[in-house]
Amino acid sequence: MKSGAVFRKEQFVIPSGVIYLDGNSLGPLPRIASRRITEVVEREWGQALIRAWNECAWMEQPARVGDLIAKLVGAPGGSIVMGDTLSIKVYQALASALQMRPDRKIILSDSGNFPTDLYMAQGLIESLDKGHELRIVAPEAVERSIDETVAAVMITQVDYRTGRLHEMNRITSAAHDAGAVMIWDLAHSAGAVPVQLTDSGCEFAVGCTYKYLNGGPGAPAFIYVRPDLVETVRPALAGWMGHDVPFAFDRDYRPANSIERMRVGTPPIIQLSALEAAMQIWNGVDMGDVRAASIELSERFIAEVEKRCPALHLVSPRDPAARGSQVSFRFEHGYAAMQALIDRGVIGDFRAPDIMRFGFTPLYLDTGDIVTAAEVVEDVILNRLWDNPRYKQVNSVT
Ligand SMILES: *Cc1c(COP(=O)(O)O)cnc(C)c1O
Repeated sequence: MKSGAVFRKEQFVIPSGVIYLDGNSLGPLPRIASRRITEVVEREWGQALIRAWNECAWMEQPARVGDLIAKLVGAPGGSIVMGDTLSIKVYQALASALQMRPDRKIILSDSGNFPTDLYMAQGLIESLDKGHELRIVAPEAVERSIDETVAAVMITQVDYRTGRLHEMNRITSAAHDAGAVMIWDLAHSAGAVPVQLTDSGCEFAVGCTYKYLNGGPGAPAFIYVRPDLVETVRPALAGWMGHDVPFAFDRDYRPANSIERMRVGTPPIIQLSALEAAMQIWNGVDMGDVRAASIELSERFIAEVEKRCPALHLVSPRDPAARGSQVSFRFEHGYAAMQALIDRGVIGDFRAPDIMRFGFTPLYLDTGDIVTAAEVVEDVILNRLWDNPRYKQVNSVT
């Protein structure tokens, strides 16, 4: 079985009795990250103090970790840097893209995009005040909506709600044929599906690292800039860490002649160290094997759930090739049902208005987990275990 090749559950802290189907939202704690955080806090921060910026190579960490991410998403070294959160990186990529096409005013995105990506675009348009417009079309309509008025196409490859997967190379080619700049958001792609950024030819890509990359809550985002643009792209947020020589303390901003120009301020060292350690888990892991195992698990889950619970309706594409590494079902009482599942150790999540979402992460899930999870889903749905007032109290994070 393919999944055996990538299964390394012993490297993660998974509480006993838990089947974790939410690694698409917050990856579990890698044991190596836990050890590394303690070491960074006690030895580097505690003992080396300010000297650690040099002695422990803290200053180089955003680019060093970027190179680790690059290996996983088919990008060369020196094309990715870490920092900030994904929202900020979306803003930077988009602002840079618009500067590359000053005569065009349209930003094209789709209705399956994650709200923050759209909000950041709206905010950017307002602050630029140059008459840009955010055009949001249905996911199926993206390709045919790209025309010569479009400055930038900004798409999240995997729809956070349905798991619908966009064809990266096709849409990128369509954007380029029309002279538009292509920005991919890989939030639900990096560590989930094979990605080949160089092959795609896209100008920018961004993504977060606390989902499938297990960097921990608030782990910094990454930004990719196509190597031929790295020395000319405008980073939009002109922070001192993106300056050519931050410690020259020049009065005027001059961006670094490398991907480091996309840095903004002081990097989150503890969080980056957790991520850097977590990235070691991917050593020897082939993303093709991860994909094969993820499809095997998600196909099995769909079959088991549909067989047991006719009340749940699949909203993810049925064709696994058109899906990322998550499966979503629509159920009228989805919120309460998810709370009941979580209470029984099967952790997925809920997305308004009625979507129960399950993530598949073959590094720490196997077929046995999937069948057990489906049995618990059946128990909750058929025996109406969700129909309990305490499962209907909506929390701030769903
Ligand atoms: C998870 C996710 C985000 C989160 O952005 P943060 O700034 O890290 O909170 C943004 N965009 C997409 C597409 C996501 O899936």
